[in-house]
Amino acid sequence: MTYKEILKKYWNFDNFRGIQEDIIESIGQGHDTLGLMPTGGGKSITFQIPALSKPGLCLVITPLIALMKDQVRNLRERGIKAVAVYSGMTREEIIVALENCIFGDYKFLYISPERLDTEIFRTKLKSMNISMITVDESHCISQWGYDFRPAYTKISDIRSLLPNVPVLALTATATPEVVDDIQKQLDFKDGRVFKMSFERNNLAYIVRNTENKQAEILHILSRMKGSAIIYTRNRKKTKEIANFLNINNITATFYHAGLNNDVKDARQKSWLEDKSRVMVSTNAFGMGIDKPDVRIVIHADMPDSPEAYFQEAGRAGRDGEKAYAVLLNSKSDKSTLQKRVADTFPEKDYIRKIYEDINYYYQMAMGDGLECTKAFNIDEFCRNFKHFPIQTDSALKILTRAGYLEYTDEQDNASRLMFTIRRDELYRLESKDPDADKLINVILRSYTGLFTDYAFINEESLSIRSGLTRQRIYDILVAFSKSHILHYIPQKKTPYIIYTRERQNADRIIFTPEVYEKRKESYEKRIKAMIDYASSTDNCRSRMLLDYFGEKNKHNCMMCDVCLDKHNTGIKKGEFKEIEENILRVVGDKKIAAASLFDLLEYDKEKIQNVITYLTHEEIIHVKDGFIFI
Ligand code: ADP
Ligand code: MG
Repeated sequence: MTYKEILKKYWNFDNFRGIQEDIIESIGQGHDTLGLMPTGGGKSITFQIPALSKPGLCLVITPLIALMKDQVRNLRERGIKAVAVYSGMTREEIIVALENCIFGDYKFLYISPERLDTEIFRTKLKSMNISMITVDESHCISQWGYDFRPAYTKISDIRSLLPNVPVLALTATATPEVVDDIQKQLDFKDGRVFKMSFERNNLAYIVRNTENKQAEILHILSRMKGSAIIYTRNRKKTKEIANFLNINNITATFYHAGLNNDVKDARQKSWLEDKSRVMVSTNAFGMGIDKPDVRIVIHADMPDSPEAYFQEAGRAGRDGEKAYAVLLNSKSDKSTLQKRVADTFPEKDYIRKIYEDINYYYQMAMGDGLECTKAFNIDEFCRNFKHFPIQTDSALKILTRAGYLEYTDEQDNASRLMFTIRRDELYRLESKDPDADKLINVILRSYTGLFTDYAFINEESLSIRSGLTRQRIYDILVAFSKSHILHYIPQKKTPYIIYTRERQNADRIIFTPEVYEKRKESYEKRIKAMIDYASSTDNCRSRMLLDYFGEKNKHNCMMCDVCLDKHNTGIKKGEFKEIEENILRVVGDKKIAAASLFDLLEYDKEKIQNVITYLTHEEIIHVKDGFIFI
């Protein structure tokens, strides 16, 4: 089958988008390839299609467990065999998954980077027939990137174990520095880089200076229609803003990582179905969400990097229709943002103190602990040892980077289930409990593959389908587990700490410049770029962002607040007014060919064009098929 036939067969799309085909051809021919496409651009099929066209298994390294599960589910729905391995799975589950990759004719193995240097994976890898390696979110491999993950550096070891296997790296955000670094870190041989423009022609970037952000939010949402997201840094504020909007007759709901999964799902659904117009959220919301008709994304607080801002703002206008990305900026925001440097990089001795206290918390003896996995309750820890959660979180992340432990704040571990007896044995099973029979039937109808692998189950939907309460379902499954009919792993919500080295003497803990000083420097650089973006009054906002990502664009967007500010169109204010009046006079109530306007008016063509663009965006005039009318 050709790539296009595969696209049609499994996805039912007729054509590739932009650079998708270039990337697919390149990796398909066995070249190490780097693909840069903005979020929503369609990166997934650029590895899925070549992998389907070759024999063997595609190894996919990706950091976010929630997204990994999403993709695996998605592939399975299309009848493609895929499986995931990540931290938080039991050893038995991991073995089942990996064996399936050796004997089960699987096409995709998704794996979180932390699992790459485990003994079990390395052993099983030897028997696998790997066709290609995909590194999704590949900017995570670069220390200069905004989202460096130390476990990503293990990928090059895997590469050396599989010398002839080509690598496809993908990312949605990379500065030129990071683009080079990705290729270096992944030992690209004849690196080929494909980049899609990050320009968003339908997205107007706006900065509003205001000392009353709630009033400004209300003002914006009253003036403009459509679905919206409001981002704030603070969990408490998500609720406050949502309440404030509801009082003012704008339907809103809120979201943050501290809510439990049912609540999150319900709110996400309500927003996706437009029952709530506005989602007020921390940055926990948005990854993997595909709502094309978001019209407005408002940031009530500044994110700490242009990368994060571009990513979040970019959730507006995926359908190609006009949309707005508004950043609210108050006088104190600059210093608030600068303070984050100290919060994110606590003093080294403070980090050592946190390490000590963690060891007390778990009563870990010196020299012990290697490979120990512990549930971690940050609130309890902070209460007992009198620390602040923000600094504690930062300290644990730095300790993770330095390789002393692994801290994951991932909270989404859905329940899992696998039968440990054969299907015929299950059918022969005589149970005295009609509820249990009913539940087994519903489970068998709802999920497939339960006899060979763990499947994610959702007790909520089982409850709806069976009419049993969630508590009853839980009790039945636990009872079945005890009698070895199945293995049930209930949903778990705690973050983990894993000791990646035995407990050390805190005084001897070393933070190299790579782990600390250099990263702090690049963090400061990103914060500065963000502050520049918010405070600039004379650069096109779109150009500033593109420039940051190394895209040299010569034209202004003519949509952002800076461009729309007439003083900055390169035309003097009086002259702008004059051209504007002349255009309106000449057009009058007629329809007039845009081209003829340039002949009729004695101004510079470019200036006329600028004014036309401005008038069109303000919807004072309209342009259709080359004709202008009012
Ligand atoms: P990314 O990983 O770049 O953020 P995804 O791979 O998740 O993007 O794709 C985003 C959306 O675009 C998905 O809904 C996908 O089905 C869709 N898509 C990808 N390629 C095409 C195509 N060639 N034609 C139509 N839709 C596509
Ligand atoms: Mg993706």
